[in-house]
Amino acid sequence: HEAISVADFAKAVSKKATEIVAKLIKLGVMANINQVIDAETAELLADEYGAMVEIRKLDHEHLLSTEDDIQENLQSRSPIVTIMGHVDHGKTSLLDSIRSSAVVTGEAGGITQHIGAYNVDLGSGKKIAFLDTPGHEAFTQMRARGAKVTDIVILVVAADDGVMPQTIEAINHAKAAGVPIIVAVNKIDKPDANPQRVMQELAERDLLPEEWGGTTIYCNISAKERIGIDNLMEMIMLQAEILDLKANPEREARGTVVESKLDKQRGAVSTILVQNGTLRKGDIVIAGTCYGRVRAMFDDRGKPINEAGPSTPVEVLGINGVPEAGDLAAVVADEKTARQICTSREEKVKNTELTSKGKMTLDDLFSHM
Ligand code: GDP
Ligand code: MG
Repeated sequence: HEAISVADFAKAVSKKATEIVAKLIKLGVMANINQVIDAETAELLADEYGAMVEIRKLDHEHLLSTEDDIQENLQSRSPIVTIMGHVDHGKTSLLDSIRSSAVVTGEAGGITQHIGAYNVDLGSGKKIAFLDTPGHEAFTQMRARGAKVTDIVILVVAADDGVMPQTIEAINHAKAAGVPIIVAVNKIDKPDANPQRVMQELAERDLLPEEWGGTTIYCNISAKERIGIDNLMEMIMLQAEILDLKANPEREARGTVVESKLDKQRGAVSTILVQNGTLRKGDIVIAGTCYGRVRAMFDDRGKPINEAGPSTPVEVLGINGVPEAGDLAAVVADEKTARQICTSREEKVKNTELTSKGKMTLDDLFSHM
């Protein structure tokens, strides 16, 4: 059955647990902080706080967070970065330029795969995972599904064009997700480039540059001419250090589905971004309402691998369907558990579709684990 503790609920709605207890008493429910309340009560409460969506978000975020991990098991992990910005401002060019320079300096091998996420090796143990989400819609969808998949947003703004509607959209998405923004002022090679104007326009939108007394990092780049790319990478690593990103590579894997498709030759293929723990060949993984034993895994260059640690995107074969982008992926003990959770989830999806008009319900199926 669905349930959530008073303490978790309080956290979900950013209220003091004592306030929730008081509210519950008003509703005629006697409860203490550690007590578990049922779904109906939680929903009643949530209605009061208008917070169902938030709770669902916390569910996913909580599962991906390191809150349950013992402090000494935590190790630094690489940042997960999403490039956003207005169409034609140079997002694809930037990612291409980052990837190809990394190929030159890092390990050999061509860029062949498109798996929706990439690992860029900067050398001396430094890595960055880039999410190549196809536009803002995917980002919105992932957020709506409660997936917190990115640590840093790179906001690409063309220096000859300035702030445009999708620039503003991207800022709003990043802010709503609480993700720090690094501004990449692109196309500075162009004669009519005006990086100062970009700064001014963005300063008006709360992205005050460091050099003007603010906290936002700006990098002037040319994705095409490969100017300023190394500096941008350094700034990402600097921001990552400030964020102090950690994960526990020792635990069972948890992550988010970034992409999935039905491949004629290989069957169902899912790209999973591992966010905590280590995913191994042979693990039983559930992803949304699908599950299966990991039959094979490939990195972003198509190389077969046996395990993938935190902040690593991998292509996974062996899942019995195509989960949706933003679905939580998690390793469970055995196939029976996986089947139970998936059946229960499918029912829930059906019920949600039947009974309510898009109203979200609690999703704590992981209590089976
Ligand atoms: P996206 O829509 O944001 O992915 O933008 P693209 O990467 O597809 O770039 C749009 C256009 O701008 C392409 O014609 C690129 O060649 C060009 N472009 C991208 N970056 C630069 C740059 O740094 N300088 C110049 N001059 N052109 C660029
Ligand atoms: Mg593009």
